[in-house]
Amino acid sequence: MNSIDTFIEQRTGGSNPQTSYGAVLKQEASALRGFLGQNDSFTRHKVFERLALPERIIEFNVSWLDDQDVVQINTGWRVQHSSLIGPYKGGLRFHPDVNLDTLKALAFEQSFKNALTGLPIGGAKGGADFSPKGKSDTEILRFCQAFMTELYRHIGPARDIPAGDINVGLREIGYLFGQYKRIVNQFEGAVTGKSRHFGGSHVRTEATGFGVVYFLQSLLKEQEQTLEGKTVCISGAGNVALHAALKAIQAQAKVITLSNSRGLLTNESGFTEEQINWLLENQYKHDNLLESAEQEFDVNYRSDSPAWQMACDIAIPCATQNELTLEHLEKLVESGCQVIVEGSNMALTDEALQAIKDKDIYFAPGKAANAGGVAISTLEMSQNATFSPLDYDAIDEQLQDIMQNIYRQCADNAIERNGKPDLHSGASIAAFKILGEAMIAQGV
Ligand code: NDP
Repeated sequence: MNSIDTFIEQRTGGSNPQTSYGAVLKQEASALRGFLGQNDSFTRHKVFERLALPERIIEFNVSWLDDQDVVQINTGWRVQHSSLIGPYKGGLRFHPDVNLDTLKALAFEQSFKNALTGLPIGGAKGGADFSPKGKSDTEILRFCQAFMTELYRHIGPARDIPAGDINVGLREIGYLFGQYKRIVNQFEGAVTGKSRHFGGSHVRTEATGFGVVYFLQSLLKEQEQTLEGKTVCISGAGNVALHAALKAIQAQAKVITLSNSRGLLTNESGFTEEQINWLLENQYKHDNLLESAEQEFDVNYRSDSPAWQMACDIAIPCATQNELTLEHLEKLVESGCQVIVEGSNMALTDEALQAIKDKDIYFAPGKAANAGGVAISTLEMSQNATFSPLDYDAIDEQLQDIMQNIYRQCADNAIERNGKPDLHSGASIAAFKILGEAMIAQGV
């Protein structure tokens, strides 16, 4: 065992290897091993070990009143991972599965992702073990207000700028921002993903899903291919999944699956733009959106059906972490899948990630491919700071440039495996260089 492995073991002992911070650290250490072997100054300055530990973790009690006037209690967290290249930035997730271990892993990955955007933003992640499912609008308002009443003292436009993530969309961001503004008595861009009526940016809602497809198009272009006529399987039916589907369809791909936590929606002849737009418009209006889509269109919904069972050229997981297992990977490769692009963060299980290195397939990690959302959030911050909103096309063009540039950095830094660039190692090395150089320059 080398010193980094020992360090990881000591600092993360006991964490769950499937979802955890320990597994992410081990994956990064493995991707960076060759680079560290040739860069003595990074090893001497203990860049990896210092980056492995978040700069600060905030944990707080969120007590709120439900509609029956009963006090409910949740736990909230903010992991402020790295401020090396800018103020902390990363999403907030409200989900019963949220725990500190997962948030530490996501915050670590966020610092790498944010570095790849080329924009001056550090990394963070936060959230609460609260489920908005089945809660009334007023309960969600009360929860968001209680959450921000604790969090506000730790954030601000030059300190930490949270955004949305799973179950934190326009509505929740509106409530969180409203409470922040009420307490600090200042209108400032301390939260991104806001409505365009009060400081939100064009393209922010679409940015992650569109960015995933722009990244994919850069990868295909290098192989002198395009998305036209390619069969694509997407998991999830939320913000990232639906916008990735829309952009892929606009590029003439045939998107044949979407999914949610309860089942799989398929359309073997390919979803149409009209169908995806209906899903986007009805996202929050149905108890089970995908089941309702089956009543609306000629599409097929199967409950309790796993996402990765249809043959495709390209798979884009866009639901949640650890959603694509080794078994799914084997099945995809066997059926001829040539590219997997992570729309969700840490979509592949640790086992699948280890195995993919030996497969004849391109793999793009989320920290590179889904960076479009945070990039446009940063443009939202600069529009807020300068009171100068940009138009839709100007932002979409910047998003395309940023995603092409992220792809280039990954490809240029990648180690070659099976005659293909290993974009996972490329993303890790490119980001690590940026963070490490900043760390060394700023002293101990
Ligand atoms: P949403 O909440 O809008 O959508 C999540 C989708 O995934 C829903 O369809 C949900 O189904 C499904 N899902 C959630 N958990 C599971 C599960 N355990 N099994 C199967 N399906 C599940 O989230 P987003 O689209 O915003 O985010 C998706 C992923 O993308 C996350 O990993 C997030 O961290 C990542 N991401 C998001 C960004 C953004 O800008 N939104 C930016 C970068 C990354 P159901 O409704 O049934 O729960």
